[in-house]
Amino acid sequence: MKEIATSRLTLTLGHLYPDQLNLYGDRGNILTLRQRCQRRGIELRVVGLGIGDALAPDEYDMLFIGGGQDKEQVPVAQDVFEMKGIGLWAAIEDDMPVLAVCGGYQLLAHYYRPASGPDMRGLGVFDAWTIHKGPRAPRCIGNVAIRWNGSTLVGFENHGGRTYLGTAKPLGKVLKGYGNNAEDRTEGAVYRNAYGTYLHGSLLPKNPHFADHLIELALRRTYRISDLPSEERNGSTQSSSKRLGVNEDEPAVTEQSQPEHQQEVPLQRLDDRLEWEAHASLLERMGLYTEAVAAWRAHNREEPL
Ligand code: GLN
Repeated sequence: MKEIATSRLTLTLGHLYPDQLNLYGDRGNILTLRQRCQRRGIELRVVGLGIGDALAPDEYDMLFIGGGQDKEQVPVAQDVFEMKGIGLWAAIEDDMPVLAVCGGYQLLAHYYRPASGPDMRGLGVFDAWTIHKGPRAPRCIGNVAIRWNGSTLVGFENHGGRTYLGTAKPLGKVLKGYGNNAEDRTEGAVYRNAYGTYLHGSLLPKNPHFADHLIELALRRTYRISDLPSEERNGSTQSSSKRLGVNEDEPAVTEQSQPEHQQEVPLQRLDDRLEWEAHASLLERMGLYTEAVAAWRAHNREEPL
């Protein structure tokens, strides 16, 4: 089946606070998104938005905010609330894909009560709140794995704050590690297409299915791809082109036959063996052997390492 050339597609990603919130290689998430777009001929433009910069949602197709130490979060919290709050809400309510990691995630919930100092008011996108249990309380540090949509996500966490969900839906269930609060086995939060998580590492290099999920959401929203059955949206193991509703025995969809904004955009399947090797070996290191084999098999249809 001839795939539609995606070379004319571009996506613009707004990277919030690249200088203040960039712990544990969070910038690696941007590099992964750019690289996975590039490998499909999609140009990902990245625009940094620092403190004092306004956020005009129409200029972006996706947003990313990383993690940081308490002292870096203080000025960011003020700026999120005073400078970028309205734009962020408008983007999120309009289903823009947003990835918020750790400190960034905490500031998209109601508030973060740090180990010392006043509460940092958050945006309240996620109905959740975060409390640091004090300077002597152990931090949540280490490798972490969660169940996400029939698959797994792996990463590294390091946070003092513990997040408690109100009505917010968790991103996943903890298989190994602390997650939101080391108590209720929830990890992260989801509101529309906004995803909060404690998974650093960075997250996306070892979780290509989640990276593709965010790219597909952005393509769907920006190019108004309308025929993808929603339940298939969240990173199931089927190949991208199939997930994008391209039926093998249907005649090849050519560009000319579809008006511009209704073009289907099959995401070309990439050779992710290295990524899944890293994913599976991290699961193994956490003693999650069944999940390691399942992840490897699901994405490589070959015997594990
Ligand atoms: N400073 C926050 C905490 O300790 C977030 C840490 C982070 O982004 N890694 O919980």
